[in-house]
Amino acid sequence: MTRKVLVMGEWKEGSLRNVSFEAISAGKTIAEGGEVVGLLLGETVKPLAESLIHFGADRVVIVEDEQLAKYTTDAFSQALMAVIEKENPDAIVMGHTALGKDLSPKIAAKLDTGLISDVTSIEIEGGNVVFTRPIYSGKAFEKKIFTDEKIFVTIRPNNIPSLPKDETRTGDITSLSPEIKDLRTVVKEVVRKTSDGVDLSEAKVIVAGGRGVKSEEGFQVLQQLADVLGGAVGASRGACDAGYCDYSLQIGQTGKVVTPDLYIACGISGAIQHLAGMSNSKVIVAINKDPEANIFKVADYGIVGDLFEVVPLLTEEFKKLKV
Ligand code: FAD
Repeated sequence: MTRKVLVMGEWKEGSLRNVSFEAISAGKTIAEGGEVVGLLLGETVKPLAESLIHFGADRVVIVEDEQLAKYTTDAFSQALMAVIEKENPDAIVMGHTALGKDLSPKIAAKLDTGLISDVTSIEIEGGNVVFTRPIYSGKAFEKKIFTDEKIFVTIRPNNIPSLPKDETRTGDITSLSPEIKDLRTVVKEVVRKTSDGVDLSEAKVIVAGGRGVKSEEGFQVLQQLADVLGGAVGASRGACDAGYCDYSLQIGQTGKVVTPDLYIACGISGAIQHLAGMSNSKVIVAINKDPEANIFKVADYGIVGDLFEVVPLLTEEFKKLKV
């Protein structure tokens, strides 16, 4: 069965987030040969639209409005609902990001459809589109299908590979101008808590520190390794609670859920609540001076040692590889 799939792209500071391309790839699978329509909402998004086509969208709808310059549930849901009414897609896909987590339940309720969130893979099995998602904080996976014809999913970043970029692909970019009104919230200013750098939830490499890092200055040692690897720094709640770093870096059950290609855990004991946020990383390296630390149970590679000796050595060796 072919489907028309509407895929919402996401941008940040003038660039599309990788999850947009992964969502297009997910949309292609769900479409089963049908049409994949990209969607971008924002103040000025036209320059980004072509990229969605290069990564697999057949065409793109844009809604440009100054009220969409910064995300608000009210404005984005009005714009998205207008596009859904016009396009009447069989399926909707968006990222399981802060935006997607906020917007998708509201849209699902408005459409009176089901929603499968945090999807990590999609397969066509026996005529059904089967969605896999983690449950019990990543300790198990469940497979779900829609019994209704309408499909609505959010996909976890860094799990569904995007399609190769093809700059020869072309497609229509059309603009829609729905009325956006009666906004109950307005974002006046966005105050950045972390420095510029790689976005934790999309990072391919994460160097994470725990209470074993011992201080804010200790985190500089991790930052140097992350910089050499083009990655981001993350943290356990233990490190955040101790004031070594900002809570925006926290990974785990009550922090961010990440699935990088490489996760280097430094001075982290491996509490179940921390594992909930990182145990699905593709390769896990643990550095801990306690050989009995729980983190070694999930690690692919373990280094028993003092992180202040091991991490600078790794940084130096990776620097040599880059030369
Ligand atoms: P510790 O458990 O103190 O471990 C420090 C580790 O560093 C030890 O293993 C030690 O051997 C090692 N170490 C010390 N010095 C060195 C050195 N020089 N070199 C190498 N290794 C060294 N935690 C999270 O991380 N994320 C969450 O989202 C989260 N949510 C929670 C939700 C709830 C409801 C609760 C109750 C707890 C939650 N926690 C969460 C907290 C969690 O239970 C742990 O307390 C926390 O993860 C411990 O952090 P840690 O591993 O950094 O510290």
